[in-house]
Amino acid sequence: MNMKRDNPRFRFAPSPTGALHIGGARTALYNWLAARHAAAGTLVLRIEDTDRERSTAENVDQILDAMEWLGLTYDEGPISQAGRADRHAAALAQLLASGAAYRDAATAKDVEAWKKEHGAGRGYRGTPTEEPGAAIRLRVPDEGETVVEDLIHGPVAFPNASYDDFVIARADGSVLYNFAVAVDDAEMGITDVVRGDDHLSNTPKQLLVLKALGHEPPRYAHLPLLHGPDGKKLSKRHGAASVQELRDAGYLPAAVRNYLALLGWGTDDDTTLMSTEELIRRFDVADVGKSAAIFDEKKLRWLNGRFMREMPLDEYTVAVARHLGREPDESLREACAIAQDKAQTLEEVWPLIRFLYEPPVADEKAWGKVMKEGSGEMLAAAAEALGAVEPYAPEAIEGALAPLLDRFDVKPGRLYQPLRVAITGTSVSPGIFESLAALGRERTLERVRDAARRAP
Ligand code: GLU
Repeated sequence: MNMKRDNPRFRFAPSPTGALHIGGARTALYNWLAARHAAAGTLVLRIEDTDRERSTAENVDQILDAMEWLGLTYDEGPISQAGRADRHAAALAQLLASGAAYRDAATAKDVEAWKKEHGAGRGYRGTPTEEPGAAIRLRVPDEGETVVEDLIHGPVAFPNASYDDFVIARADGSVLYNFAVAVDDAEMGITDVVRGDDHLSNTPKQLLVLKALGHEPPRYAHLPLLHGPDGKKLSKRHGAASVQELRDAGYLPAAVRNYLALLGWGTDDDTTLMSTEELIRRFDVADVGKSAAIFDEKKLRWLNGRFMREMPLDEYTVAVARHLGREPDESLREACAIAQDKAQTLEEVWPLIRFLYEPPVADEKAWGKVMKEGSGEMLAAAAEALGAVEPYAPEAIEGALAPLLDRFDVKPGRLYQPLRVAITGTSVSPGIFESLAALGRERTLERVRDAARRAP
């Protein structure tokens, strides 16, 4: 049995130095999809918190919260890397004992001098010492190369001779990042490392550590970074940058999973609608492309709108309620029913249904644009028709208003836009007949009559 293929073990290893950003979320998602795709895959969550100054408990909470919102479950962890200091110390002791690592008292200046003497491009080789206060370096071979067999980039070779005998632990005994990662990946039985390709240059060092410790290396897949639509590295100026910001902007987790999954993987079309089950079924890290993928919030918004429209109404109402901090009661359900086709994000729902909960908003611009000479008279006639129509429901309302178009000899917009502004205050609302019906006869008449009095 091929253990690796049948029981692959993935890990997501964020550094809690800030919120979970979109790039990190994609890395988490790819690991999750790969782990769930496998028959018996495991996802380990390792918090790389060895930078004690920048790692905070709030950041850890934000990362966990973001993963939960995204629905990215893990099977083991969260494991604190800092909490594994004794394991790191044991691995260091092993390397010192075998001679694969040695203490070296050289300062940065000494290393510089050594390099001057030995020529540029040559990796530093130190002088072993028994001095207890010295840093610990890994012995790097002078010959051969260290090859990263990357699933996405193919083999990437790094000549050993150009690598310094690099420091794996400081004089105070604290270990360095690449050492801790290699030890943890090995001891956690990680078979597949999927991470951003900003880490590709770290990988040969980690491979050298693994080899020195006698561990078989995992498979690696380094994901091309995300860029904004302007081709620059993704950052805040491209819109929502963290998972929390995506949530606040009213995106649905399923749509975010869909869109992030397609950033660099799958189809040429990054707006293909795919359920999470389908993503899991089809996902393969080996299919990820080599070039940077573009995160375009406009496309996410469009995709989100598709998910919103296709949601069952009850589920939709619950999502809107949660976003607005309201109860998913019957009145909200009715409001959602008429807004569902119009909103691309949860955030866009409230402006569409606010008129059902609050008086019309005062939007001078909208008013001035639609209230033309004769609007007052038409609105008065509309109020009369709406007062008499039975039942007070969308279809009958349409039937009662339509004859006014002939009577005043106007196009639909000349009647319905003023009506829309009359009941909502704005020129954007769900369908006009549904909106009039949802507002109820009494409130409608009150608003339309009021507008009729004020309109020219
Ligand atoms: N902690 C690293 C980061 O957040 C990831 C390291 C890894 O995946 O090996 O960028």
